[in-house]
Amino acid sequence: MPLQIKQAVDLTPLNTLGISATADYLARATAPSDITEAAAFAHSHDLPLIPLGSGSNIVIGTATLHCVLLKIEISGRSVTATPTHTDVRVGAGERWDELVAWSVEQQLHGIEALSLIPGTVGAAPVQNVGAYGQEISQALLAVEAYDLTTDKVVTLSNAECRFAYRDSIFKHAGKQRYIITAVTLRLTPATTLPLPTYATLQAELERRGVTQPTVADIRSAVIAVRQSRLPDPAVTPTVGSFFHNPVIAAADFAKLQADHPEVPHWSTPAGQIKLAAAWLVEQTGLKGEIRDGVGLYEKQAICLINPGHKPAAEVLAFRDHVIDAVEQRFGIRLQMEPELIAV
Ligand code: NAP
Repeated sequence: MPLQIKQAVDLTPLNTLGISATADYLARATAPSDITEAAAFAHSHDLPLIPLGSGSNIVIGTATLHCVLLKIEISGRSVTATPTHTDVRVGAGERWDELVAWSVEQQLHGIEALSLIPGTVGAAPVQNVGAYGQEISQALLAVEAYDLTTDKVVTLSNAECRFAYRDSIFKHAGKQRYIITAVTLRLTPATTLPLPTYATLQAELERRGVTQPTVADIRSAVIAVRQSRLPDPAVTPTVGSFFHNPVIAAADFAKLQADHPEVPHWSTPAGQIKLAAAWLVEQTGLKGEIRDGVGLYEKQAICLINPGHKPAAEVLAFRDHVIDAVEQRFGIRLQMEPELIAV
């Protein structure tokens, strides 16, 4: 069947931040061959082709997107199990948390701490989703992607994805080139795991009397912590964390710590210092502030919410207000975590 391409599509229900906007065109890809068709259509209309997952980590930056948006709905899961590991290849359109739930049911370790992260499997490698010390890059074997420069599906190894902290090639050189179609993960059987080092998760496990957690214990505790601290996007428009944790040079950190001895910080393997964006924002007093329908969630300072369903300009103005406040206080400029789409 030829690909259905709709015109002048309302994007409000397609982004969890609830920004009202339209796209010139929208199509839904259930197979890589649909991408070929959509790419040809976009080319003939001289428009960019932009992939869309579940819209849970994007900020639509203009009232009208002049592009062909391609919602990736490629499904499917195939499993190869050996005594030492299980490889699972998953279609990019599958829901990430359904994959995590499945892995935990199978008592497989590798992604259990990434429970309840919204979004699709295909979106997860783009920002190298991570939580509580676990990152998808630690479990990822390969990414299959449609290469718009050659119109072929290629396979990128873990190294070729150039993963870093909440970062990958898909945010840089691969941004307008690759559309992820499938992801293969390698998970390992696990009976019990060491206690996580993250204080919030540790406290939740302690409260439950768990000293040797299973993957199911970790998933259950992560879900409880996330639900207690983050709004439900189905009720409160949000994309979760809105700001990256800044990573700064050790010398800059020494100056910061001299002025603010209480600043929470962690050393990175590269010898830099990671700061908690949430702490920096909290110190400005903006946590929980709502201005004209846009604000910061009362229980999580880096969670921007848009209960007033405000358009992009107002959301971005509030973002800048937060960034400026942190910069004035600490001399550190926060970076936005979700992807800004403005074409
Ligand atoms: P939290 O537990 O309140 O901690 C605040 C920040 O401090 C986190 O961002 C975390 O950095 C850092 N941190 C805390 N304990 C640490 C430790 N033992 N070692 C190193 N760093 C530590 O965090 P939260 O905001 O509620 O988020 C919980 C987890 O979910 C975090 O890991 C967060 O990154 C993750 N998350 C990820 C995404 C995403 O991938 N887009 C979105 C939302 C939340 P890290 O961020 O480096 O872990």
